[in-house]
Amino acid sequence: MDNHSLARVLHEIADVLEIKGESVFRIRSYRLAGESIQTLTRDVVEMIRRGEKLQEVPGVGAGIAAKLQELVATGHSSYHEELLAEVPAGLLELLRLPGLGPKGVSLVWRKLGVTSAEDLEKAIADGRFRSLPGMKEKKEAKIRKGLEARRRIQRRFLLPEAEAVVARLTRYLEGHGATRVEAVGSFRRRRESVGDLDLIVLGDARALSEAFVAHPDVKEVLGHGDAKSSVVLASGIQVDLRPFAPESLGAALQYFTGSRDHNVRLRERAVRRGLKLNEYGVFHADTGERLAGGTEEEVYAALGLGFIPPELREDRGEIAAAEAGTLPRLLEAAEVRGDLHAHTQESDGRDTLEAMVQAARRRGLRYLAITDHSRAIPSPKRGLGMDEARCLEHLARIRALQQAVSDLRILAGIEVDILPDGRLDMADEVLARLDVVVGSLHSRLNMEREEMTARVVRAFENPHLDVWGHPLARLLGKRDPVSVDLDRAIEAAARHGVALEINCQPDRLDLPDALVHSARQRGVRFVISTDSHAVHEFDNLRYGVDQARRGWLRAEDVLNTRDTQDFLAGLRPPAA
Ligand SMILES: [Zn+2]
Ligand SMILES: [Zn+2]
Repeated sequence: MDNHSLARVLHEIADVLEIKGESVFRIRSYRLAGESIQTLTRDVVEMIRRGEKLQEVPGVGAGIAAKLQELVATGHSSYHEELLAEVPAGLLELLRLPGLGPKGVSLVWRKLGVTSAEDLEKAIADGRFRSLPGMKEKKEAKIRKGLEARRRIQRRFLLPEAEAVVARLTRYLEGHGATRVEAVGSFRRRRESVGDLDLIVLGDARALSEAFVAHPDVKEVLGHGDAKSSVVLASGIQVDLRPFAPESLGAALQYFTGSRDHNVRLRERAVRRGLKLNEYGVFHADTGERLAGGTEEEVYAALGLGFIPPELREDRGEIAAAEAGTLPRLLEAAEVRGDLHAHTQESDGRDTLEAMVQAARRRGLRYLAITDHSRAIPSPKRGLGMDEARCLEHLARIRALQQAVSDLRILAGIEVDILPDGRLDMADEVLARLDVVVGSLHSRLNMEREEMTARVVRAFENPHLDVWGHPLARLLGKRDPVSVDLDRAIEAAARHGVALEINCQPDRLDLPDALVHSARQRGVRFVISTDSHAVHEFDNLRYGVDQARRGWLRAEDVLNTRDTQDFLAGLRPPAA
């Protein structure tokens, strides 16, 4: 079992305890342990094999350590299974819907007999849901939206989870003699989520296929053969394995990396040139002579094209650009020099200001903006966000810390709520003293398009606003993007010099890649920000860079690839 699967079990234990209404303290201990295992850089399985103490993992006490030992040894936890037997399985999924919460789940289960998302949809449709105490129209609308989003994202996996599966299977297959393992498809194109995984391997096809279907994570074998094997893992993700010979590797990588539309265009191009293109190579249509296949570069060259990076293979004009030699030189993660969005314990961050600054230094960043929340942030915890007085105190602490740090510029900032009427949730005199102001939507996300557009355009008129944070406020699989007239919003952002954020949180990836691509030629600037709430989240940078690359961005399109001085000079140009 990988760390993700172990963490999932701990979270599920916490979920069931919550539905059952057990002690908050117990629930939280499982949550904390789950979170720390999810973000652990080492394999728990490996730690156990080496006889290391799991109690050294933060949040893992003796009781949870024993459950992890049992999970790794036997593949299941008896405590987890006992708990699951006490509540219908569908309730766990309901818990993930925004708006319902454990109390709500418990209520719809006990009063209405609802045990699945489908049941809940029915109970909403026939009005029974509304008859429950506290379930008002607004709440119902929120839950209905969550149910719709769930239908759309069903059976898709976010990149970190997919990466964990790929890393684990790669190690395993290499241990069974594979000389090369490549994950292709939408994973290699770095789409924001993936439906299933395709692996291409070099090595002994028979032996690798046998080993693959026998992997301990496999729940179901859908097909098994030398050319292709398909399995479903315990986590629900389908993985296909395709062994190839080295002379076809490039053609196979090209063919299975897709997208469908990109491949259709390439095949049409091949036909026009009297060629045949398939997963084994590029051939003369008449003579059958092999012209290319070993590398992708060769395959594209045989079609008269320069190499097209996987992230661009979406049929958004990349083939014409490759032919003309005008493909952009895409942004690289190493070119990003600063991070413009990070939280500390001052609001909802897990770590201290000092720890965040040290982590940014270790990553080699030249500047870091500390952007804790303003007071309007909707939160169960009262007083989570800063008012003016606290913001100024925080500013003073940041300036003081700078005295002790010479190799990183600490920018004093804020993630200020864009209030429903478009004002910013902080006095202008305070905003004026900060280095970076990120404005974000966190409340009234269901506003009508016209009203929402007016709201953000008004926010951009505030001369202190530098960055529009996670513009569409979506959460993948949980919350749809807000409805806003992006043409007008982007035009206003460009006019006022407000940069658009590409948020690197794997469940946000907001602005989405397609919108980055369409916005990029409209004179608007971008920043890439991790929105880190803990030191390890600086690692999420690459996910945002992936999306920027999918949007065709170059280093010069992104403000925080600049040096500190250049960056500060470019951040807030004098009002037009
Ligand atoms: Zn935010
Ligand atoms: Zn944030």
